[in-house]
Amino acid sequence: MTFADLGLSDELQRAVNESGYTEPTPIQASAIPSILMGKDLVAVAQTGTGKTAAFVLPMIDILGEGRSRARMPRTLILEPTRELAAQVAENFEKYGKYHKLSMALLIGGVSMGDQTAALEKGVDVLIATPGRLMDLFGRGKILLTGCSMLVIDEADRMLDMGFIPDIEEICTKLPKTRQTLLFSATMPPPIKKLADKFLDNPKTIEV
Ligand code: AMP
Repeated sequence: MTFADLGLSDELQRAVNESGYTEPTPIQASAIPSILMGKDLVAVAQTGTGKTAAFVLPMIDILGEGRSRARMPRTLILEPTRELAAQVAENFEKYGKYHKLSMALLIGGVSMGDQTAALEKGVDVLIATPGRLMDLFGRGKILLTGCSMLVIDEADRMLDMGFIPDIEEICTKLPKTRQTLLFSATMPPPIKKLADKFLDNPKTIEV
């Protein structure tokens, strides 16, 4: 299996090759074609399996060229910590270097002024921790009605950190017709319940 077999664009394959990866990891091989077809996904996978590229790569191809509108991100990635959010942003920059996509990172500990200025200009990809996102949402700085793709990453850590009520609320602000991907190292009952409530007939992968 090669990256060319997964249905990714030539530009993206070039960026992947330049990262030095020669073949997809098992989670990438099974998740990427199904995400490109628009299906929802539940992936039970630990860090280190290549799960970040498994959602970042197809997301870049789905977004294509940037066409963001003020305060209306096109995709949202939720991460439990600033560090993880920053890592995902680095992945986006690395793999998305041949695409003209705009991105904003909404995390605590960073000036809100810069974040709201980025949102005002319009972003294709918003990577956020739930607390900061809810804060800016409450101030009317973000509209989630144009967001057609949602990634809930490290869902079991979100649970440990008490973020599930925030995530549930965020899910209700997004359009009902959207693609949702949930990644978790384990699948405790509250996460299973969250997936049942907010995902539509997802493909399930365990690696
Ligand atoms: P993650 O599970 O997303 O935290 O990724 C773990 C590590 O695997 C990261 O350092 C990635 O750069 C690396 N990685 C991701 N995909 C591949 C691949 N197809 N081949 C080799 N390394 C990869």
